[in-house]
Parts: sequence; C-alpha cells; structure tokens
Amino acid sequence: MIRAEGLSKTYMSGGEPLRVLDRVDLHVEPESFVAIVGPSGSGKTTLLGLLAGLDEPTEGTVTVAGENLQALTEDGRASFRADNVGFVFQTFHLLPTLTALENVMVPMELRDGPPLSNGGTIRTAAMTLLERVGLGDRAGHYPAQLSGGEQQRVALARAFANEPRILFADEPTGNLDRKTGQHVVELIEELNHEQKTTLVLVTHDLDLAARAHRTISLEDGRVISDEPGRAVSAEGGRVISDERGAVSAAAPSEEGPAQ
Ligand code: ADP
Ligand code: MG
Repeated sequence: MIRAEGLSKTYMSGGEPLRVLDRVDLHVEPESFVAIVGPSGSGKTTLLGLLAGLDEPTEGTVTVAGENLQALTEDGRASFRADNVGFVFQTFHLLPTLTALENVMVPMELRDGPPLSNGGTIRTAAMTLLERVGLGDRAGHYPAQLSGGEQQRVALARAFANEPRILFADEPTGNLDRKTGQHVVELIEELNHEQKTTLVLVTHDLDLAARAHRTISLEDGRVISDEPGRAVSAEGGRVISDERGAVSAAAPSEEGPAQ
C-alpha cells in the first residue's frame, strides 16, 4: 500500500544542512495498523508528511497505492490526497469559521474521485459520520465551542469523510487526557476496521503503540527497529507483550510531554 525507498529529508538550518530523515526504507501492507514511535525530534512528523504526500523528500521515492508521488505535480498530489488519504493532527486543525458539520463536509466537496458508496447528499453523509463519532448533537457548534476530545472526534469524522485508503495520524491523542485519548483511539480502530483503512499512526503513547500490528522506531532520522506488535519506547525501554497480550515497559520511562 505504501512503499518508501531511500527516503531522506534535509533542511537548511542556519546555513547548515540538517538531515532529519536518513535513507528510510519502508513497506506498509494494505489494511495494516502501523505505529511509528521515537523521541521528540527523531523525524516522525517529517516521515508522516512525506508518506502522505504533504511534503517532498530531498532524496528517495514514495509510492502510495501504486502511485509514485514524486511523479505527480503539486496539484496532482493534492488531488491524490483528497481521494485517498485522511490525516489527523495532534492539534486538530479544524477550520474555526466553519461548524463541526461544515468541517466534515469540506473534503467531500473537494473530492475529485467517483461518488462514495454512502449515497445521499454531502450534508447527510457528513451528518452520518458526525453521529458515528457521537457528535450528532454538536453539528452546529464551532470548534471553539467544543472540548478537545470533541474537536478531535470532528477531525476524525473529517479524516474518514472520503473513505480514505490510508489514515495518517500524528499524535492524535497528544492533547487529550488519557480517557478521552483512549476513546479516540477506539474510534480510529473501529472506523479503520469498518472501512478497511490502512492506518499509520505516530505516537508517544506506548499503550497506543501496543495496539498496532507493527511498530517502527525512529531515532535521529533512521529506523532503529521494525517489529510486529512490539515497540521500543521513546526513552529506550522495550515494550513487552505477555501471553495475555498485556503490555508493560521493561525499562523505566519518564512521562515526557507529547511532541
Ligand atoms: P518529531 O515529529 O519526531 O518530533 P520532526 O519530524 O517534527 O520530529 O522534526 C525532526 C527534526 O527536523 C527536528 O530536529 C526539527 O527541528 C527539524 N525540522 C522539522 N521541520 C523543519 C523545518 N521546516 N525546517 C528546519 N528544521 C525542521
Ligand atoms: Mg512530531
């Protein structure tokens, strides 16, 4: 579903080149749930932006659903994203002048691809999604009138609006309390399951990473481990699943602020 080859990204910082991603190779299978973990500054957000076609690599290629993103123009990439990719950000990124319902309608209005299976009008389809995330009674609210957890659920409804083949989520629980964050993750998993979406999620949260089928750890822009169902924590502790599937961190870990 996603194939990255020799992916590097170099920024200029104070006149000096700063290589924040260093020849990353990656293959993500359709319908899988992949977690990307790593310390702050290790390149997680940069990698996600490249895989989603939001940003261009300095070297290397990204192929998503058979499409080489580097071969597309910027407009072509935007159109490809609108039809194939959903994105959820740590800070929600809702449009403040639009209601919850209108925020969910935006990607549907931008869609170039064939009509979606849900039929009906864009408004009713958006309403169905808002109800799906438990916010049918908040459709007319503006983002400022919603709690963080509610805003993130609107952002989720928006991300799933075009039934994306892939959902990218960058620390989607980073600004939420634990309980609200868990609810958001359960919703992501449910929608992922219903729509057979491929899910690539960046997180600091080891419990969240432990739900993934596979965990990729980044450090200084390189993949340092890539393992099914297990993670190396941002602080270097290894997450171990016992036979019941419960998860514990083997090394002491400090609760750092989400990045
Ligand atoms: P993470 O998401 O793992 O915290 P990022 O991908 O956001 O890491 O950033 C990786 C590194 O790249 C950081 O050192 C950051 O300061 C640097 N960086 C990110 N974006 C830019 C940019 N636009 N210009 C210069 N440096 C950047
Ligand atoms: Mg980040």
